[in-house]
Amino acid sequence: MTKIQVKRPLVEMDGDEMTRIIWQMIKDKLINPYLTVDLKYFDLGVKHRDDTDDKVTVDAAQAIAEFGVGVKCATITPDAERVTEYKLKKAWPSPNGTIRGILDGTVFRKPIMTKNIHPAVSSWKKPIVIGRHAYGDLYKCQEYVVPGAGKAELIFTPASGAPVRMTMHDFKGPGIIMGIHNTDKSIRSFASACVTYACSEKINLWFGAKDTISKKYHAHFKDVFSEEVMKRKGDLEKAGVTYRYLLIDDAVAQIMKHEGGILWACRNYDGDVFSDMVASGFGSLGMMTSVLVSPDGKFEFEAAHGTVRRHYYEHLKGNPTSTNSVASIFAWTGALRKRGELDGTPDVMKFAHALEAAVIGCIESGIVTKDLTRLIDPPSGKYETTEGFIDHVVKRLEKTL
Ligand code: NAP
Ligand code: MG
Repeated sequence: MTKIQVKRPLVEMDGDEMTRIIWQMIKDKLINPYLTVDLKYFDLGVKHRDDTDDKVTVDAAQAIAEFGVGVKCATITPDAERVTEYKLKKAWPSPNGTIRGILDGTVFRKPIMTKNIHPAVSSWKKPIVIGRHAYGDLYKCQEYVVPGAGKAELIFTPASGAPVRMTMHDFKGPGIIMGIHNTDKSIRSFASACVTYACSEKINLWFGAKDTISKKYHAHFKDVFSEEVMKRKGDLEKAGVTYRYLLIDDAVAQIMKHEGGILWACRNYDGDVFSDMVASGFGSLGMMTSVLVSPDGKFEFEAAHGTVRRHYYEHLKGNPTSTNSVASIFAWTGALRKRGELDGTPDVMKFAHALEAAVIGCIESGIVTKDLTRLIDPPSGKYETTEGFIDHVVKRLEKTL
């Protein structure tokens, strides 16, 4: 069989623990035998990040900016415990945070659906994608526990001119205060990434906030977001995609009776909360993909889950594991499909589709890893090992190619 040629390079970022083991299996069994692809390889394994003083993460992000598409394995974000475990120089920052900062991107999380896994919400027939704004609000706040009586004020000191002061509250006793912010630049970039994603996937875009109560903060956020979306009216019309603003509580109510197939753009906190709600509503962490989209159209694909640490420790003890590789495989297919789309190579897109179909086909015929045994209908007592599942995917793929 002649291999399919991927025209332009794909940035590959290796990772840690169980997902690193899975990563190698995917490359050996599902990618390299079928494709000739120039992989720009960056080892984001925690030890190599430590050895390079985290320079490798910055280099990888710059490579995505250069080549347009990347695929990333899950990585450890070290805490004090990990610093000891892996004998690191320090607790390096989250690679995802570093890459997001450099590409100025927004993360979209999308569930992978099969006919025999029913979402907890019966009306959900198609994926609900969450786009979470990843800057500001609660996550970059100043807060204070008020010890007793006193006046809390909001003060803005302009670069030139007189300060603006507002009373937040006249405290008669103890309480709490918080100050949050956002910037027009970040909101515009978020809105633009949402439009890029919605048009790329051809799904309608929703955005919710509470502008009836917060007549400045939420209303301004909504206005800037909507204004930026409207600048891309041409793109939306070309893709047949509509934009809808709703009050956030209305959005939540509508989502629970919607069939899905939409992008729900969420402010930072809403996205944190509702992405977990939607993820568990659709089933398993092993079935959730994630893509970082920059406003200028650079894409980085990965699984939404972490390095599956507990399974890795079992693997190290020599015990068999049954870790779900689906989200990691879909990170590869997502990246390959995007590469094919940007390069104008339909055979690469076709391969991505065939590989996804082989994965879905396995699950729908009851071939699953342990995490899915109680989710599939009918439930099954039987499950494959990590490698066994991938081998079944290979068999199915071989039949369709
Ligand atoms: P995790 O890797 O997401 O796994 C948590 C638990 O969820 C697992 O122990 C497992 O449950 C289940 N699970 C997750 N993915 C699965 C899969 N593919 N197949 C089967 N079960 C799966 O989170 P963690 O173990 O708490 O975190 C490990 C490391 O991941 C941390 O160091 C964290 O920094 C990192 N992390 C990285 C990313 C990223 O790179 N994007 C994201 C999140 C976390 P059972 O144990 O019950 O089987
Ligand atoms: Mg969360």
